[in-house]
Amino acid sequence: MAWIYAFDHEHPTPPRDLKDLLGGKGANLAEMTSVLGLAVPPGFTITTEACVAYLRDGWPEGLDAEIAEHVARLEATMGRRFGDPSDPLLLSVRSGAKFSMPGMMDTILNLGLNAGSTAGLAEVTGHRWFALDSHRRLIQMYGTTVAGVDGEAFDHVDGLDEAGLAEEVERFGATYATAVGSPFPTDPVAQLRQAVEAVFRSWNTARADAYRRREGIPHDLGTAVNVQVMVFGNRDDRSGTGVGFTRDPASGAAGLYGDFLVNAQGEDVVAGIRNTEPLAALGDHFPDLVGELETTFDRLEQHYRDMMDIEFTIEQDTLWILQTRVGKRTGAAAIRLAVAMHEDERIALTPAEAVARVEPEHIDQVLHPQLGAFDPADRLTSGLPASPGAAVGRVYFTADDVVTAVRAGERAVLVRHETSPEDIHGMAAAEGILTARGGLVSHAAVVARQWGKPAVVGAQEVEVHDGFLRVGDVSVAEGEYLSLDGTTGDVVRGEVALAESRLPHELTTVLAWADEIRAGRLGVRANADNAVDAARAREWGAEGIGLCRTEHQFLGGRLPLVRRMILAETDEEEAAALAELGVQQLVDFEALLEAMDGLPVTVRLLDPPLHEFLPDLDDLIAMEARDELDDEHAELLMAARQWREQNPMLGVRGVRLAVLREGLYRTQVRALLDAAEARTAAGGTPIVEVMIPLVAVREELALARSWVEEELASRAGGDTGTVHIGTMIETPRACVRAFEIAEEADFFSFGTNDLTQLTFGFSRDDVEGPLMTAYLARGLLAADPFSTVDAGGVADLIRIGIEGGRRTHPGLSVGVCGEHGGDPASIAVFLGLGMDYVSCSPFRVPVARLAAARAVLAEVG
Ligand code: PEP
Ligand code: MG
Repeated sequence: MAWIYAFDHEHPTPPRDLKDLLGGKGANLAEMTSVLGLAVPPGFTITTEACVAYLRDGWPEGLDAEIAEHVARLEATMGRRFGDPSDPLLLSVRSGAKFSMPGMMDTILNLGLNAGSTAGLAEVTGHRWFALDSHRRLIQMYGTTVAGVDGEAFDHVDGLDEAGLAEEVERFGATYATAVGSPFPTDPVAQLRQAVEAVFRSWNTARADAYRRREGIPHDLGTAVNVQVMVFGNRDDRSGTGVGFTRDPASGAAGLYGDFLVNAQGEDVVAGIRNTEPLAALGDHFPDLVGELETTFDRLEQHYRDMMDIEFTIEQDTLWILQTRVGKRTGAAAIRLAVAMHEDERIALTPAEAVARVEPEHIDQVLHPQLGAFDPADRLTSGLPASPGAAVGRVYFTADDVVTAVRAGERAVLVRHETSPEDIHGMAAAEGILTARGGLVSHAAVVARQWGKPAVVGAQEVEVHDGFLRVGDVSVAEGEYLSLDGTTGDVVRGEVALAESRLPHELTTVLAWADEIRAGRLGVRANADNAVDAARAREWGAEGIGLCRTEHQFLGGRLPLVRRMILAETDEEEAAALAELGVQQLVDFEALLEAMDGLPVTVRLLDPPLHEFLPDLDDLIAMEARDELDDEHAELLMAARQWREQNPMLGVRGVRLAVLREGLYRTQVRALLDAAEARTAAGGTPIVEVMIPLVAVREELALARSWVEEELASRAGGDTGTVHIGTMIETPRACVRAFEIAEEADFFSFGTNDLTQLTFGFSRDDVEGPLMTAYLARGLLAADPFSTVDAGGVADLIRIGIEGGRRTHPGLSVGVCGEHGGDPASIAVFLGLGMDYVSCSPFRVPVARLAAARAVLAEVG
């Protein structure tokens, strides 16, 4: 069994399955070396199989011997020996898999140094400061990453001279020994072996697990480990290090983008400890290398056909490429890059490739709001615009405090001097992130961009104190409001209102491609209840309304009428109230049909229980106790008592309500058909779908259908356009008996909210709190079934429902209008089930269009 894959110039072209074996970064190292012939410090990758074997059975047999063999090979190539006191070869170790975040857990530099070899390094390089600084780094990184010593224990002071550094090396060694209980290992082989094991182990930490889950990286892959010869960016002023992107990862604009530091090592750039210089200034320090760097960036981008993130080190005017991977990007950049790389003939992405590059979250991100207008006097300061979008919330200075505040229902902004991976949970919970230090590729910036969290970093005027921040003589205390604009870098005191966001115009192109890809496979409609939402949804590309919840027409100024209808004591009183309601609904329906002219509009007849339109029973009882009930409220109290139910979600709602109050549905249908007639008369093309909710048995639908048909039959002459009569399928029984329900239905629309509620027996109103949190934390459910459709039970019921319906009615139109209709993971499930369309809220329509196309692409592989 070979556990190791060497990357060197003699190696043949790497095999295709290398990514799984070496992880993204390991495979890229191999490709950069053997395919592209770039100057990569030589090394080798220990495969993911070795990590899997280690986690299962302990240290793999034969791995030590293989490591020794490859170290010997590197020694021969470099003409130096690992840990040699007179001229040491030094190695770095880091995770090879895609899994890694800058500065997170995986880089251990300068393996092979101890007191003797540090002196040797100083001797050969003639540079004692550099040797001491390298040694101090090793103890610090090894201490925290391998031995788990608290990072705070190593309080490195910037700008020390040789004597100061020598003292710091001593101090760090003692700190290590105290914390770990044994001296810092001096044997280079032992250092290497422990470091490799630490990377293996890191695969199993809770933090790594959370990150993998977020990124969709399978757990059973393991992480590979890259071992590489050290080159030094901290050797002198002819050395340096940087991290760059082949294009701007925030905006997608062409041109190199990134930061570098003279006389520094990689960690300095990503840790944000020193303020970096932009790549544009590289020529001021290394004029001869600018061209080479540009060519290298170009070749990497063309080879990978994507925007790449590249780490490089300059050692005494020699450029080394340490690493490359596909660059993380903002939503706006992802959309722009997809189109730019389609147009760039050297890359020439196909539309399908371009669509696959844009993720649903990217679209979400560009739909994020921006800060609205604010008084310039409230502008506290500005920093680097690291991740776009606006964030408004109360200031907290630790990740834990942010999480506590958010749990209590507040919006919070995390303010840190600089962030570290320890702050991840706070960053995830916060509306936005502000740091005083760090560059555009600092930890805070990279993580925020990836998550689409607004962030401003490196706001140098901000002093972070215990419980407050200060800019000049203005203080902002914990709990006060702060507003951030991650697009401009503005930091504003107080609670600024949000403005509508500006969308990259390339979004239209990407969505048009998405529409072509999903055409004929999965339509996208919107859930909209009024003409304004319908018009917006149509602008976003909705192909109709999949759900108009008519109860929304019963609220506001209509409420007194609805109550009159509920309280009516005689049929005449009820009919009069309903007639007035009908007149008002006619106006609503007409506007709705006009906004969606020529596209189907699915109107669901009244669904909620009637008590929802009455005042709260407890309030009425309290009024009664205070003797405050007037006649009307006394009547309302009686009605509220009468309509009160123990389980209203399982009670008199949907079609059941209409069985008791037939006039309600008849009135709604009459208003709807009148509106359709008026639209046709006005030259429009209404397409009406009347939908009956909460049907469980065929006879319910047959009864409701007969009312609609009678209304249709009773009209003389007027043209209502197309009218279909269908049903929601949202009870498990309806799924199972769909074949007979379909006898009465022209279409089905799955109400996955109620279907999930009734399938699990989880109250959709109550389960989301502590219970769902506990279920998810304990792994009892992989995802909240109210967000992502349960691919087991609920999806099985839907499958039975669709099969049954289409057995009776081949080609029956089938859609989904529960919240899942806008969820990308659920959309893929619905495509697989053979749905004709999904329907979601207007703002989700672009996301759903893209997600549907990506699901189609994923299906064809
Ligand atoms: C559903 O149950 O999925 C649905 C769309 O209806 P509502 O959410 O209005 O009950
Ligand atoms: Mg429902």
